[in-house]
Amino acid sequence: MVIDVRPILHTPGKVLEFRFELDLSGLEFDGRFPIRRPVAVAGEVRNTADLLTLSLTAETTLDAVCDRCGKEFSQDKEVACRCMLAEELQNEESDDIVLLEDGKLDAGELARTAFILGMDSKTLCSEDCKGLCPRCGADLNLGPCSCKKEPDPRLAALARLLENK
Ligand SMILES: [Zn+2]
Ligand SMILES: [Zn+2]
Repeated sequence: MVIDVRPILHTPGKVLEFRFELDLSGLEFDGRFPIRRPVAVAGEVRNTADLLTLSLTAETTLDAVCDRCGKEFSQDKEVACRCMLAEELQNEESDDIVLLEDGKLDAGELARTAFILGMDSKTLCSEDCKGLCPRCGADLNLGPCSCKKEPDPRLAALARLLENK
């Protein structure tokens, strides 16, 4: 999605709105393709005193898998991104400045990058997911399994020390 900002390039107070969908279904994360649904992008470019600011949000519902218990679940995901636009770099380079090419910018690429950076490295179905029992594989969210509790190795070592006294 290439956006032509020339109509507002030199007109302070003007705003250019945009809205498009992004297909990120081919992106692989840990061997999975969680962004199966389209990503809705909405944003604007605003000219404030001849400074161009772009802000956008990209949102979708991910087909996520919990890292702890392996359950599949839907996860709403919204990523926001904000940057300055410039025709040429004035001062030293800045990560917050995106250069225009012939008065245009690729908002699709920008949204894509923001969304990828916004993906969580860890996914949990809930903050307090109890995960699976390492011995029998039972989902501990459904209740305790029938395995005997392993003694904590640190406590066991302490117990041996106390015995030898
Ligand atoms: Zn879980
Ligand atoms: Zn168990």
